[in-house]
Amino acid sequence: MAAACPCGSGASFADCCRPYLRGQADAPTAEALMRSRYTAFVRRDAAYLASTWHPSTRPLDVAEGLDEVEWRGLEVLGTVRGLEGDDAGTVTFVAHHATGVLTVGQHRETSRFVREDGRWLYVDGDVS
Ligand SMILES: [Zn+2]
Repeated sequence: MAAACPCGSGASFADCCRPYLRGQADAPTAEALMRSRYTAFVRRDAAYLASTWHPSTRPLDVAEGLDEVEWRGLEVLGTVRGLEGDDAGTVTFVAHHATGVLTVGQHRETSRFVREDGRWLYVDGDVS
């Protein structure tokens, strides 16, 4: 059986986020991009995170801190626009993480995405 995708979609990694991380396809929706970026955090794929981060908000060192957090699961709570015919959208999610054996927590964010030249990009988000 193929490995499940880390983003929790229920599909296998090969049928879900892998084509995006490999640059074989562009995520068609803001949610698909958000899920693929979560998978990139899980896999510590700084190059993919950088390539899907809007240049206006991208950190100088995307890889900084990537190794310090172990991601444990993703729940997408809702989306506004961000579909194939849109050029902007938001995705609200909770990502569960651990920063050590005993320190578990969650990161809840409403992320903003824009589509430029046909590709969705992460802009920024409101953490709640
Ligand atoms: Zn996935």
